[in-house]
Amino acid sequence: MTPTVHGNTLIGPTATDIDDPDGVNTTAAELEDIQKKASNIVKNLPLHSVITSFAGLRAHEDGHEFIIGEVEDAPGFIDCAGIESPGLSSSPAIGKMVAEIIRDKLLLAKKSHFKATRKGIFNPNSLSFEKRQELIRRESAYGRVVCRCETVTEGEILDAIHRPLGARSLDGVKRRVRAGMGRCQAGFCSPRVMEILSRELHVPMSGITKSGGTSCLIMGVNKDSCKEGESNGTL
Ligand SMILES: Cc1cc2nc3c(=O)[nH]c(=O)nc-3n(C[C@H](O)[C@H](O)[C@H](O)COP(=O)(O)OP(=O)(O)OC[C@H]3O[C@@H](n4cnc5c(N)ncnc54)[C@H](O)[C@@H]3O)c2cc1C
Repeated sequence: MTPTVHGNTLIGPTATDIDDPDGVNTTAAELEDIQKKASNIVKNLPLHSVITSFAGLRAHEDGHEFIIGEVEDAPGFIDCAGIESPGLSSSPAIGKMVAEIIRDKLLLAKKSHFKATRKGIFNPNSLSFEKRQELIRRESAYGRVVCRCETVTEGEILDAIHRPLGARSLDGVKRRVRAGMGRCQAGFCSPRVMEILSRELHVPMSGITKSGGTSCLIMGVNKDSCKEGESNGTL
C-alpha cells in the first residue's frame, strides 16, 4: 500500500504472467488477491471508497535486460525495448543515455541557452486564503473551479495548455493538473475541459480527443439539434 504524492492511497499491484499482448483488463481474481494481501497490512479497508482500478502490461525480455541502442539493421532507429520494472525509476537515466547516443550520432552541440528545468504549474491551493482571494481578484480564472472533485481551477488548466509542451487533449490536461482524477472520474468536468481546450486551441469541439489520434470524444450531431439529413455544423 502506497500513499501517493497527491494524498490518495494506492493498493497493489500484482504481477501475473499472461499470454495476451493486449490483456489490460482488471479481473475479480486479481482484485481479490490485492484485497487479501492489503488486509494483512490494514484491517477493515474501506474498499467502497475505491475510485478506480486499472491494469497495465509489463514489458518482458527473456534475459531481463533493457535493450537500448541503435538497431543494427535500421540505422538511426534507437531501440528502448524490454524496459521492465524498474523502468519508470530508470527512465531519466534512459533518456540521458538516448540523448547521448543521438548527440554522438548527429554530432550535436548543447545550446548555450538551454534551460534544464521547467517551472511547475502553479497550484493556488498552496496559498493562504487571503493570498488566494488576492489572486482571484487579479486573475478571475483561478476562482472558477472546473474539476470539483480535485478542486482544479480554470487558471491551472489554462497554464497547462499554454506552457511549453502544453496539453492538447483531455488526458493531457488530466496528467498535468489532475482534472478528472477524482471521485467522479471526469463525469462532470470533461465537457468543461473540452470547451476550454476548444476555445484556447481554436479547434472545434469535435476535434478534441481523449488522448490524441482517433480517441474522439464527440461522435456526431445529436438528433435533437438539427433536422433529419441536415447538419447545423456546430457539433
Ligand atoms: C502494474 C505495474 C507496476 C509497475 N511498477 C513500477 C514501479 O514501481 N517502479 C518502476 O520503476 N517501474 C514500474 N513498472 C514498470 C514501468 O511502468 C515500465 O518499466 C515502464 O513504463 C516502461 O516504459 P516504456 O516507455 O518502455 O513503455 P510504456 O510506459 O508501456 O510506454 C509505451 C507507450 O507506447 C504506447 N503505444 C503502444 N503501442 C503503440 C502504437 N502502436 N502506436 C503508438 N503508441 C503506442 C502505449 O500507449 C504507451 O503509452 C510497473 C509496471 C506495471 C504494469
